[in-house]
Amino acid sequence: MTTALVLFRRDLRLADNPALSAACASHARVLPVYIHAPDEEGDFAPGAASRWWLHHSLDALDRDLRERQSGLHLAQAPTLETLLDLIARSGAGTVHWNRRYEPDAIAHDTRLKTALRERGIEVHTHNAALWCEPWSIATQAGDPYRVFTPYWRNLRTQLAVQEPLPVPAFREWVALPGAQPLAALDLLPSIAWYRGLAATWRPGEAGAHEWLEVFADDALGHYAQARDLPARHGTSRLSPHLHFGEISPRQIHYLLERRNARVDVRRRADLEPFLRELGWREFAHHLLFHFPDTPSRNFNPRFDDRLWEPQDEPALERWRRGRTGIPLVDAGMRELWHTGWMHNRVRMIVASFLTKNLRQHWHHGARWFWDTLVDADLANNTMGWQWVAGCGADAAPYFRVFNPVTQAQRFDPQGAYLSRWLPELADAPPALMHEPWKDPALLRRSGYPAPMVDLGQSRQRALDAYQRLKG
Ligand code: FAD
Repeated sequence: MTTALVLFRRDLRLADNPALSAACASHARVLPVYIHAPDEEGDFAPGAASRWWLHHSLDALDRDLRERQSGLHLAQAPTLETLLDLIARSGAGTVHWNRRYEPDAIAHDTRLKTALRERGIEVHTHNAALWCEPWSIATQAGDPYRVFTPYWRNLRTQLAVQEPLPVPAFREWVALPGAQPLAALDLLPSIAWYRGLAATWRPGEAGAHEWLEVFADDALGHYAQARDLPARHGTSRLSPHLHFGEISPRQIHYLLERRNARVDVRRRADLEPFLRELGWREFAHHLLFHFPDTPSRNFNPRFDDRLWEPQDEPALERWRRGRTGIPLVDAGMRELWHTGWMHNRVRMIVASFLTKNLRQHWHHGARWFWDTLVDADLANNTMGWQWVAGCGADAAPYFRVFNPVTQAQRFDPQGAYLSRWLPELADAPPALMHEPWKDPALLRRSGYPAPMVDLGQSRQRALDAYQRLKG
């Protein structure tokens, strides 16, 4: 009777999980394992919001396994030694895992695979996270893509609707003594800041599918128009579920295509832009795989000099706390602090404000996002920040400085989003909510700060710095 070990990482689901399905298909006994190893993730161990999510997602996965007379064996690093111990005690001859794509994770998993194979253990790795492996798409010259549109055109032609794998049938669970309790991983932050996260999200596979159903029924039909309106639930909010692998792009694609075909073919107009966003996620992984130093280095080295000011901690702190005096920036930063998530358009605006109006290096913003986003993802976060800062692959040109006032007037005309996150301005008419400094009495009464920079002057200073860089 053969035994296999399944190493869970960021694939915290039972359905459409190729590693789990392969192990259950060819082995009579299966041991599902999660090894907590933040020290093995280099500079990018999970931040506070991610740890909160991970705690609840592991809890959900364990419960889902127990319903099937199985369970999750929790352990702590070092991964190799822990695996060898579990292999020896369970008699497993095979390990299955789904691949990760961050540079440190790739290096670690490659070493792990070699070490296990040297000891005669079979290792099988699978793709659970992406439509396409990052190395499987290339330009005609065989190079990686650096521009999204041709990348997406190529990927889109290859993209077939595939039926996801079902939850596999478990035959026998190997229960071993010595598993750690979840609390021993010490994932929950000590301060109660995470109450807002708990009120907003339901981590785990069931929560992911619930969100997908809500999106398919309510928001997909308006996605093309509503995805830019931060006050609406116009997007899927699947990003943390995708990051932790509680749902796969294949499952999302399959369900939405099936619904679409059944319900209304006109909804293609909304489905295509949504699939394209998932395409940006694939592109981000493609970039990170081929340009692995981009989390710490500008994709475009021309930006290495003279563009950003030295670190200004008081200014950064005002930005982090949502006290810049620019309403749309502050609303976004407070949404992030409270829920662990921020609307995509607002992410672009707060990032533009930080890197251009305040001329602070994008690393400072990316780090704060890393710690506070429940969907913090090295590929997407790096691409997002470098795109806004202007130094990334296929980036917004540096001279494109988002104006947070006109953006708020256009995408939140009634101030519904602003009043949700800036209660001190909620009674002001929308025109003043967009520019509260126009009424000094309102600032005095509400305690809302005056703008920390003049938007026009700071924009001009950024453009001047960029001109000098070019010269
Ligand atoms: P939807 O509009 O419903 O899109 C569906 C899915 O497509 C998302 O869940 C996400 O996985 C993917 N997606 C959508 N937009 C993008 C994009 N621009 N780039 C890459 N993938 C995308 N996304 C993260 O998942 N993690 C991050 O750490 C992250 N950091 C960002 C930082 C900045 C400065 C910017 C501008 C964007 C960042 N994004 C990040 C991308 C984007 O903002 C989020 O993916 C999106 O807001 C998630 O909401 P949603 O699930 O409702 O998206």
